[in-house]
Amino acid sequence: MKSKKNKLTDKVLVLNTSREFLGTKPLYKAIKDVVTNQVIVLESTDRLIKGGINKHGVQTEMAAPTVICEREYVNVKYDHLFKISYSPENVKLRDRYTCQYCHNKFKEDELNIDHVHPKCEGGKLTWTNSVATCFSCNTIKGSQSLKECGFSLRKMPIKPSGFSEYLRLKVKTIPESWEQYLY
Ligand SMILES: [Zn+2]
Repeated sequence: MKSKKNKLTDKVLVLNTSREFLGTKPLYKAIKDVVTNQVIVLESTDRLIKGGINKHGVQTEMAAPTVICEREYVNVKYDHLFKISYSPENVKLRDRYTCQYCHNKFKEDELNIDHVHPKCEGGKLTWTNSVATCFSCNTIKGSQSLKECGFSLRKMPIKPSGFSEYLRLKVKTIPESWEQYLY
């Protein structure tokens, strides 16, 4: 049976020596770190990645890593590491591509960003004043306040912070092999 190939751009979870989350990197970069002995492989799939020919004339192969750990402690400021910058794309991701007024799911390009507190009344484009809306809800709401248009928000928009939100926004789907390392 032919196994499905790992894409070299697949994300690999990178942990510090303390097992704290450091980030993710594409598989091809993780393989380079493994080959140069900078990291330890904690989890891998049973899919083999073919490498070059070694001095014995044999083609090398390696199980594709999914979780790796640094060999030397990396000094990082964790607050800085989990910073998620404000952007319309990240607001749509935070809101899981769901219109915050009619609660239907849409594609990214079928959503706008609405100023909850209207722009004309001084509402700013910030995490806490921006929500994803579909075009029709956006048109109905226009420059009215929530009270004026009778819309309500299921939950108040928040500024995403911390590690789990960071991962959800950056990675979207968390591979099963990562779960025991995320806490
Ligand atoms: Zn809507």
